[in-house]
Parts: sequence; structure tokens; C-alpha cells
Amino acid sequence: CGVFGIWGHEKAAELTYYGLHSMQHRGQEGAGIVVSDGQQLKVHKDVGLVNDVFKHADFSMLQGDVAIGHVRYSTQGAKTVENVQPLLFHSQKGSMALAHNGNLMNAYALRAELEEEGSILQTSSDTEVLAHLIKRNGNQVSEVSITEALNQVKGAYAYLILTEKQLFVALDPHGIRPLSIGRLGDAYVVASETCAFGQIGATFEREVLPGELITIDDHGLTSTRFAMREQRKMCAMEYVYLSRPDSDVNLVNVHASRKNMGQELAKEAPADADIVVGVPDSSTSAAIGYAEESGLPYEMGIIKNRYVGRTFIQPSQELREQGVKLKLSPVRSIIEGKRVVMIDDSIVRGTTSKRIVHMLKDAGAKEVHVRIASPSIQHPCYYGIDMSTRKELIAANYEQDKIREIIGGDSLAYLSDAGMEKAILKDKTIHQGVCTACMTGKYPLSMEADKQVSPFI
Ligand code: 5GP
Ligand code: SF4
Ligand code: MG
Repeated sequence: CGVFGIWGHEKAAELTYYGLHSMQHRGQEGAGIVVSDGQQLKVHKDVGLVNDVFKHADFSMLQGDVAIGHVRYSTQGAKTVENVQPLLFHSQKGSMALAHNGNLMNAYALRAELEEEGSILQTSSDTEVLAHLIKRNGNQVSEVSITEALNQVKGAYAYLILTEKQLFVALDPHGIRPLSIGRLGDAYVVASETCAFGQIGATFEREVLPGELITIDDHGLTSTRFAMREQRKMCAMEYVYLSRPDSDVNLVNVHASRKNMGQELAKEAPADADIVVGVPDSSTSAAIGYAEESGLPYEMGIIKNRYVGRTFIQPSQELREQGVKLKLSPVRSIIEGKRVVMIDDSIVRGTTSKRIVHMLKDAGAKEVHVRIASPSIQHPCYYGIDMSTRKELIAANYEQDKIREIIGGDSLAYLSDAGMEKAILKDKTIHQGVCTACMTGKYPLSMEADKQVSPFI
């Protein structure tokens, strides 16, 4: 998912729309904006793409100089409009809107507890749980009640919480999901990805820190800490696949990190071949890096139909496979008779690589050497990326040579764990880490917390 927030701009809702638009790749199931004019909160949201959801939206009805927005792809909860965020709650003491990127591991247990106490939850999304925890015991929405609530949830989260008078911003103690602060004139801007700042002409100011709770109101921005800050564990998949290449995730440019991954991959797993071809768009940067390091020419051997959405966001495997077919086409004159190094950013379920190897062979490739610019994904993610069961992960179920056989490549190699970390953290001087749990099995949140995973995921 992607979140966006802005404080102190007369065109808050419109700027949020543009910000969300630039983060459309983070979620395509639903989009929404909640705006505040200081008196009341108003919402516009629906299932679908940002453009569709706001096609007929009347921005003159969304007046106010504060807004938060969300683009959704679900890891928990049904794909219905009630689950589209921001969630908005009204009470006699005032309103509260919430936008969340991430995943709560103990949502199921907390839900049961809340229901036991008499709460009636409207959605099946884990985000609503936090709203109830904040309002528990008739609390006002404040730094204190939010801190108390955050200390009860476990997982990965970037939260925006809006009331009539304040905007709260919180990031989990490991900083697993990305979240940055920017400025646009006097206005404060918050976004999952820095590409949203570029989109609206804002400038990056700083990362939200792990365990930090920021309050923005008429007095400006204040920062507190709701938890001891742990070593940062930014999701490695943000670099590998999810984020836009022009974004800086935790101060590291995504394109640069992908290019480094391609270079490391070329060092670790060279191939006897004629050309390097990337699977657009997410592996283009890595393919460029591989080509540069190996000295082989980079070729545009696969063309992408840019009007087809991200395949992984399709809900069923059948639709996913159909999606790949619609989305990518080989360039026969480039491929024919060649030994091709095919670079993809990752293998999750194996759908993409298999299709592409077949596609390249059908287009006359003599050999296809599959090189994956990330380590093999063998463990489920509990932190908000849609890979939550071992069953769906091809590398959790088959040995590497069997996978090569299934996808039909002449050879197959992955980037090593160390190679990936080196590529991401290459130019960093401060010691900060990345989460690599889905590849290494080293979960930054304790196994004790892991045991609380809901049976829904
Ligand atoms: P596969 O087809 O093996 O499931 O997915 C691999 C390809 O799709 C890669 O090119 C990657 O960019 C993308 N992808 C598919 N599903 C997911 C997913 O659930 N999470 C992430 N991060 N990337 C995915
Ligand atoms: Fe990202 Fe993998 Fe960690 Fe999930 S387990 S947060 S996908 S690196
Ligand atoms: Mg891809």
C-alpha cells in the first residue's frame, strides 16, 4: 500500500490525489482521500485505480487544507469498499481517519479481545483494530492514546492518523515500511515514497524514524518516540521490486540499488551469452547493471504494454498468468538466434519467469540464462507484502534445479543474500539494516510475535 498526507495547503485534496497517483504502483485495488477543514472530515474513496476513483470526484466538495490518502493492495481483509482506506470514524468527541501501510501480526488476537469487550468492527481490515485500540476506554485521540495503542500492536506499519485538529504520523519500531517527510512551502507532506514529493514539487526533508510518533498541528511539527528504536530493518523488497526507481528509500535511490544488484549478480553468476534482456519495468535497472558489469550488450528484447496493471496484484493465479501474457511481448529480430541472459528482479510464484522463458524461446532464442537480481524467496512475509504462505512460493517447495526445469531456463542463478545487502547498502556510511526475512528466514520481529499470526493470512 501507499500512504500520503499533507498539512497546511489550500489544495490539500488535489495534491493528495497527485501524490497517490505517483504511488499507484503500490496498490491498485482501491484509493481514497480524507480531507479536513478544521471542523469536519470528509471522505471520498472506492475500489479501483486512483484515476477511476477520482474521475467524477468533485474537489470543491473536498475543501480543507489538511488531507490524507491511501492506495490499497490487500494482504489482509476482503477486497471490498469498506476495506478501502482511509477508514473514517465519527464520534461525539470528534472524528478520526486512518491510513495504514503494512500488516499487523497480532490483529486477530486483538480483534478477539476487542469483540470480547463489546466493540463491533465494521471491516475485516487490520487497520480498524488500531482505531479501536486508540479509542478504547473512551479515550481522546492524542499522543498518549496513540502511543498506548501502538504499544499493543505488533508488525510492520506506517500510519497516518487524522483528526479535525491534528495529523499523527507513526512508523513501526523496526522501520520496516518506508515513510518520509517533505516540505512544500510552509506545508508538511508525508509519503510512503519520495517520488510523491517530486510529483507535487515538494522537497524531501527526512525519513520518519523507527518508533517515532510525529504530531503536526497549528503549532508545527513535534516528534516523540512511542517505542525504543530498534535497528532499522527496511524491507528489501522495496528495493528489489516494489518502489519506483526514482524514489529514495531510506536515503538510498531505488534505481541505483537495483543497478548495483545487477552488477553484483554479474560478478556472482556470469553467463556465456550474447545479450542481456530485462523484464520491464521492475528489472530494467538490474539488467542495465548486469550488462555494464559483464560487458554484454543490453538489449530491449521484451516490450511491455503499459496499460496492463501489475500482475501480482491480480487476485487469482489464473488471472495472474493471463496478465503476464497480455503484458509482455518479445522483439523477435533482437532475440532470434541469440543466447540471452534474462534478468528478472525476483521469482515469487514462478509465473513470470516461466512465461518469459517460453516467450523468448518461441521468439527464437538459442539459449535462455535466467538471472534473478534477488535471493530466492523461501519464507512468507508477515509485514505487508503479498507473499504470506509458503505454499505459493516456488522456492519454498522446489530445489533450484527443479525450478530451472519448471521455468524452462538453460541455467538459473539468484543473487546471494550478501550480494543483495551489499548492493543496497553500498554507498551508506551509517550502519542500518534491511529486512531480508522472506529470503533468509531471519525475521526482525521475534518468533514470539510470529506465533500470533492470524489464521487469515
Ligand atoms: P512471479 O511471477 O514469480 O510470482 O513474480 C515475479 C515477478 O513478479 C517479478 O518480476 C516481480 O517483479 C513480480 N512479483 C510478482 N508477485 C509479487 C509479489 O507478491 N511481491 C513482489 N514483491 N513482487 C512480485
Ligand atoms: Fe520485505 Fe521480505 Fe521482509 Fe516482507 S519479509 S518485509 S517482503 S524483506
Ligand atoms: Mg517484474
